[in-house]
Amino acid sequence: MEAAEGRCVGVGVSLPGVVSPDGDATLVLPLGWEQVPFGAPLAEALWHAVPVGVEQDALLAAKSEFVWGAGSGLHRMLYLIARDHGVGGAVVGAGLLEGAHHPLQAGHIQVRTDGKPCECGSRGCLETYIDADAVRGVLQEIGLPQEPLAEVVRGITGSPQRERFAELVVEPLRVGLVTLVNALGPDGVVLGGGLGILAEVFFPELERAVAGTVVARVREVPLLRETASDPILRGAGLAAFGTLFRDPRECGVNQHDRTMGARL
Ligand SMILES: [Zn+2]
Repeated sequence: MEAAEGRCVGVGVSLPGVVSPDGDATLVLPLGWEQVPFGAPLAEALWHAVPVGVEQDALLAAKSEFVWGAGSGLHRMLYLIARDHGVGGAVVGAGLLEGAHHPLQAGHIQVRTDGKPCECGSRGCLETYIDADAVRGVLQEIGLPQEPLAEVVRGITGSPQRERFAELVVEPLRVGLVTLVNALGPDGVVLGGGLGILAEVFFPELERAVAGTVVARVREVPLLRETASDPILRGAGLAAFGTLFRDPRECGVNQHDRTMGARL
């Protein structure tokens, strides 16, 4: 905050897990956090000088895609993103009818009943097949290099290992997508992070899967790839500026503050 040029009017923080409405870390498995007070202690450490917004990373990225990216024409968007470790998701809606924004634990929907054990205690969870760690494991299994990950996955088109990779990674993603689309009824699906690369390489398979859902038989459900750069960072920006947009006075900005007015 001290290094920022001009006045700092808010702080936005992204966490890779479940965040309570008060900004506490309810369950953040990648960090091993359970019921960790976060938003209030952070605000206190910042002398309550500015509002602090804390949200789940996937929800922040989804909002960014919904505002600036591939989802900007949608009314109820399903967003999924693969991290190095874990998969996040969110549903973002444009209005009251489409519903509010919901973070999802999409990485933990079960895609195989006899699958690998997951850190959540279940088996066969989606993220154990499609996060970057899982994809690296598959590449090793089928005798391909693991780095640079994006380029290796892109290069799999036309290679003899394509079918085996599709079976081990893309098929679980297909099953997960069908379940999520049928359960949540979005009018479009946006895939981000490593999933955007999978959608690039295996677009026909994944598009066919979404088009085959009951929801897509009622109305078209386009499958889209993330287009905004740094979506989580942009989403955290939305969280940081949220209070300023709602009520500038809460950020210590008022109409008599000429210096700030000029900057705004
Ligand atoms: Zn799980």
